[in-house]
Amino acid sequence: MKNLDQIISLCKLIDIRKDYNQSNGGNISFKDGNKIYIKPSGKHMARINGLDDFYCSQMKIFSDLLTKTEDLDLHQQKFFKQFSPEKHRPSIETFLHVQLKKYTLHLHHIGSLIISCRRDWKEFVAANFQDALCLDYAHPGIELGKELQDQIKSLGFIPEVVFMQNHGIILSSDNYDDFKLLINITFKKINSLIEYHNFNIDYFEKAESLFNILHNRGISFYSSLYNKKIPENFSNFLSPDIIIHLGETTETKDLITVGDKKVLIFKDYIFILEQDPIKRLEIEELVLAQIEICQNLKKSEIHFLSSDIVKRISTWALGKARR
Ligand SMILES: [Zn+2]
Repeated sequence: MKNLDQIISLCKLIDIRKDYNQSNGGNISFKDGNKIYIKPSGKHMARINGLDDFYCSQMKIFSDLLTKTEDLDLHQQKFFKQFSPEKHRPSIETFLHVQLKKYTLHLHHIGSLIISCRRDWKEFVAANFQDALCLDYAHPGIELGKELQDQIKSLGFIPEVVFMQNHGIILSSDNYDDFKLLINITFKKINSLIEYHNFNIDYFEKAESLFNILHNRGISFYSSLYNKKIPENFSNFLSPDIIIHLGETTETKDLITVGDKKVLIFKDYIFILEQDPIKRLEIEELVLAQIEICQNLKKSEIHFLSSDIVKRISTWALGKARR
């Protein structure tokens, strides 16, 4: 399948960019002849590793349902009943994807949500995104699909950018390179219009740079809940627990010695290398504690543990067992 590797790496990148998408929401699809491949419902973007991780179907099944004019809820319920929880279930938004271009991405991009939750969202979109379509709120599934169908009919062409009221955004293109460009340009534009309070876009841009370096080397990492720059006096040599869990040092300026480190500092931002989801939360807690200590004390005020103590703790078998 052409471009499959790029689509998979795009899914992994989306997982890191929490400004693009959160939790297991959003979906991505591509078409091959009469078939559509789409991220299954509820599956996390990061867990897309191959063609088998997509739900594949004839598109006709969905377009046929879009011809129904009444009892839409009933038709939808009946349709989704055929899928057992163990099997891939198509995303409820497949009804949108089948009507769009070859490559389609739907995300709950935080900036697009901020725009689409505005009372004056249509004016705002029209002033900043000339060819974008505004899709009024409709119940997810067939109803939303029919709303898009009506809009495309009156528009006379398939749009590449669709803002969905109180929901998010859809980007679609027939050519993969154009698709990537559309994603970059649109999200950059949206992010330039929003003044975020809790999402540091610079952090996520650096995360994307780091992704481009590490993904080629087969190394996965996670963005941290702490997306501000770390304090200047940030150090690991503060307490036994921090040394035990985070390792002797977190510094990996050259990006070559990732080794068995739990966290990574890149461009003064912190990223998590721990792969286990529960351990990852533990690491986050320790990182936040460590940052708080460093923020509360000047470097000259901190008593750092000596390198002998650090060495003893980091090679201590009982300590290692707690990791
Ligand atoms: Zn959605």
